[in-house]
Amino acid sequence: MLTGKNYIGNEQSANGEVYYTTFDPVGNAPNKNTFREATTDEIERAVALAHTAFETYRTFSGIKKAAFLNAIADEIMNLGDALIDVYCKETGLPQGRATGERSRTVGQLRTFATQLIEGSWIEASIDTAQPDRKPIPKPDIRKLQIPLGPVVVFGASNFPLAYSTAGGDTASALAAGCPVIVKSHPMHAGVGELVATAIVKAAQKTGMPNGVFSNLNSSGIDVGVHLVKHPKVKAVGFTGSIKGGRALMDLAAQRPEPIPVFAEMGSINPVVILPQILEDQHNFLVEAYANSITLGCGQFCTNPGLLLGIKSDALTNFVHGLSEKIKEKETEAMLHPNIAKAFAINKEKALSQSGVELTLDQKNEVLPNHANQAIGTISGALFLENKLLQQEVFGPYAIVVQCDDFSELIAIITQLEGQLTGTIMGLENELGKHPKLIEALQNRVGRLLFNGVPTGVEVCPSMVHGGPYPASADSRFTAVGTDAIQRWVRPFAYQNWPNALLPEALQNSNPLAIQRLVNGTPTKEAVSSNS
Ligand code: NAP
Repeated sequence: MLTGKNYIGNEQSANGEVYYTTFDPVGNAPNKNTFREATTDEIERAVALAHTAFETYRTFSGIKKAAFLNAIADEIMNLGDALIDVYCKETGLPQGRATGERSRTVGQLRTFATQLIEGSWIEASIDTAQPDRKPIPKPDIRKLQIPLGPVVVFGASNFPLAYSTAGGDTASALAAGCPVIVKSHPMHAGVGELVATAIVKAAQKTGMPNGVFSNLNSSGIDVGVHLVKHPKVKAVGFTGSIKGGRALMDLAAQRPEPIPVFAEMGSINPVVILPQILEDQHNFLVEAYANSITLGCGQFCTNPGLLLGIKSDALTNFVHGLSEKIKEKETEAMLHPNIAKAFAINKEKALSQSGVELTLDQKNEVLPNHANQAIGTISGALFLENKLLQQEVFGPYAIVVQCDDFSELIAIITQLEGQLTGTIMGLENELGKHPKLIEALQNRVGRLLFNGVPTGVEVCPSMVHGGPYPASADSRFTAVGTDAIQRWVRPFAYQNWPNALLPEALQNSNPLAIQRLVNGTPTKEAVSSNS
């Protein structure tokens, strides 16, 4: 049952006077539950608890933290259909998407738990002393990764589970040993509250300190701004728009003690279609891209918003085939009336730019909050001149750019802003002929795909979900996959520290039996005291 209250650590609290509701875009009506925005006092209490919880939580073993993450996964599953019902009511997304996203979220939590038990993520490194070294003795130095402190997490509207309350940022920060305060997304406050309940239950069952997790309601930017400015907050995870992410990055940089903001933002995910595959595999290309552009009503950060090819009859046929295919698809509800409105405005703005030819702008009478899909096309030369066409149009939209030749196509890629993904569609023998194109794409994106669609992000150790700014705030890190944990830690070294007082990960006997780097060699062996 939803209460509309905040979680300040393990306690529910609702002292504020600001109320809001979520919205059912399919029913085109506000949902009935009201949520109470967190007050300044509630924010302060949540941060103070997180600060105190950090003192003990940071010392917990991987096994103990793993038990917590697995318990969160169990408790999310125990929420059963109630969670799925609220998810659908707050997003307009279908049940299948809700259960799929729940599986991913739970799987993600369990993956971090496994990583904690395995233990090598901590990057223990030991360089033993050489007291007799000439001309100066070498000290004993031992390094590992330690958690930063309380982390604030902002989730995105389009992933109420996988990128929100117990999503990748929260799971990786908790795994790293950082307490988490979630600034709940106002559009799915109900899902947020249910998941917060699951996290708090799991924390209590597994003996976590009160304050290891809090969930604060908010219907505007004030709560988030207060949290990011708070001196006891040590890092921020954000998934959302470039505008929002950039505002938080600037705020964090202006603090007396600047802190990192790991912002994962929008992207238009360029796709290059090589000439031969356009001739040979028209149907495959049309089918694959009609599905990807409209998946989830286009509301994916990996949505392919920019398709590039070399001018030809085959490319013209593709543009028309794609438009026809998309026309056959039912229009769908967007997440919220504001997102539907923003889509209509941004689409109109993009399609009215000089030289853009409309190949599809379904002007159907659609149900309220539903999106009319659109495809446009433009020459390479005009696209190059107009930066506005590079902006994300969040929804079922793409523009196809028809280039004169490969040098124009490469020039376009070179001046693109940073992107999450880049894709090349081609025959294998075509791919090898374009090393400059591959290099240009590699410089602009975090993940390069061959003959696939960018929508869909696998959670695994090799995944990179990030990229040069503005795809993400810091291209050295990933928001998805087990390496996401590295955002919430810093390297720390002990010099000549007594063995018994070192953390277990660095002790001579290797009591955790983890992989370590000893004098430059990876090993699980103990360190002999005279090595
Ligand atoms: P959003 O409008 O940026 O909101 C995200 C969160 O940030 C909300 O909680 C919002 O709070 C808060 N926020 C926004 N501006 C703020 C500011 N100036 N100060 C403080 N807080 C602020 O994004 P969204 O509509 O939820 O998500 C859609 C966007 O996310 C799309 O651009 C999509 O491409 C991107 N996205 C990226 C990824 C990725 O992994 N890279 C994944 C999913 C989505 P309020 O709503 O209360 O203002």
